[in-house]
Amino acid sequence: MLDKNYKMLYEQNQLIYKIGQNIISNLNKKDIFKVIAEEIKNILNYDIIQIIVYNEETKTYQYQLVIEEDEIINLNSVDICEGGFASYSIKRKEDILINDVENQYYRYIDDHDKYLKEKFNWRAEKFTKSLMFVPMIIKDKVVGDLCIQKYEKNAFDLSDLSTFKILSTYIAIALDNSSLYKKVHYNANYDSLTGIYNRRKIIENINKLKERSDYECENYYIAMMDIDNFKKINDVYGHIIGDKVLVESASLIRNLIGPEDIVGRYGGEEFIIILKNRNNNFKDTLERVRRGIEQLSIEINNDEYINITVSIGVAKFDVKNMTLEENIALADKSLYKAKNLGKNIVVYW
Ligand code: GH3
Ligand code: MG
Ligand code: MG
Repeated sequence: MLDKNYKMLYEQNQLIYKIGQNIISNLNKKDIFKVIAEEIKNILNYDIIQIIVYNEETKTYQYQLVIEEDEIINLNSVDICEGGFASYSIKRKEDILINDVENQYYRYIDDHDKYLKEKFNWRAEKFTKSLMFVPMIIKDKVVGDLCIQKYEKNAFDLSDLSTFKILSTYIAIALDNSSLYKKVHYNANYDSLTGIYNRRKIIENINKLKERSDYECENYYIAMMDIDNFKKINDVYGHIIGDKVLVESASLIRNLIGPEDIVGRYGGEEFIIILKNRNNNFKDTLERVRRGIEQLSIEINNDEYINITVSIGVAKFDVKNMTLEENIALADKSLYKAKNLGKNIVVYW
């Protein structure tokens, strides 16, 4: 008898482990929720499952997924009402196990009738009697809440709750992984200050252009752009204003270049722009950028503004006869010339 119980316990643990692994190995958030719902069904019998995501910054919670009797109910972005079971569980980081809602609700919520009326009720004719809520917690932070419900009374016991809790931990890890994954992906491609491509990504983009046909590549130009006297801005107004200058310049450049042109932060106060040329329009684009920056007023204090200028060096993107480094070096030479000519100018190689 004891052996049999151990075997059952072992098999149960194996199943939880397997389910947990399935959930964790899924990095794509959209899939995660479907995997979660399906996997939980393998081990806990429910009529309704709700996955609620909590945003700590905005202090809001929303349904991420609701499935009732195998039917996905689309409640995307519906806020969860305050004063309900979910908000109780999230705020207190507490589990809720109820096997007879009508007689046990008062421990968690004040007014059950009001709660039922206010809550998003998609099938009023059916009321759940048993429910479990468990918070999903990562490093002490609540990232959401999991809930399963049954129409019948006394559907769940403490062992179910324990299983559900273990799964909620796996799910919290999976959610954390997916946001971490997004962050890592973002940092690998974008400059964290200005939000435009970073040096690595812009070089990757240039290399992609090289893979295209020679004919197409002949229509591209590389422009190196450097803010004039930027060190002085830092020295006089401080680094925070310096950073603001970089952010506003980057966003202006992005707005002024063409839809097929790309801009990235090459380093410090240097930007690199790859321009697709049509009927020599790249010259107009770069002149527009130079003038746009010249006319940009950057607020440094209440009603106090500064202006900046940029120098731009341009070279034709010659894939056939040059390496990328040589090509960038040519644009750099033009930039050097622009600085020597007194700055605030576009120089072509
Ligand atoms: P020039 O007109 O010849 O380009 O002179 P410059 O002062 O712009 O050039 P210099 O290379 O002497 O100075 C660049 C400065 O940019 C030095 C560095 O401290 C500053 N810098 C680099 N990255 C950042 C950043 O992320 N934020 C801020 N605020 N400053 C930065
Ligand atoms: Mg520089
Ligand atoms: Mg500079």
